[in-house]
Amino acid sequence: MSDSCLFCRIVRGEIPAALVRQDDHCVAFRDINPQAPVHLLVIPRVHIASLDALGDAGIGGQVLAMCAEVARHEGIATDGYRVVFNTNAAAGQTVFHLHAHVLGGRSLDWPPG
Ligand code: AMP
Ligand code: ZN
Repeated sequence: MSDSCLFCRIVRGEIPAALVRQDDHCVAFRDINPQAPVHLLVIPRVHIASLDALGDAGIGGQVLAMCAEVARHEGIATDGYRVVFNTNAAAGQTVFHLHAHVLGGRSLDWPPG
């Protein structure tokens, strides 16, 4: 946990978020600036700065499993969706608490910008 980390503060309930699912390991909530009809963020409860700092592969698995669960629950799994981990500055990471973007509900271009 980090006192000043935005997503740690969401985990602790200090900042409101539109939560869609949570378990002992992860929390999923709606992105405040959605880039698709469905745009969720899935984060581990523990503070990990980025994918580059992930040491515990088990936590990565928990995050990915919740991505798949929320995608099915939101009804985007059959048509298709994208899971993105922006990692460090050149990839556009702005919040340095590991998070997966789950995007769907529209066609998604490839390659991304
Ligand atoms: P990234 O650029 O990959 O670090 O993504 C950070 C994401 O967090 C962006 O898509 C933001 O819109 C989103 N975000 C920032 N603050 C909040 C918040 N308070 N609640 C929900 N999403 C947020
Ligand atoms: Zn954090």
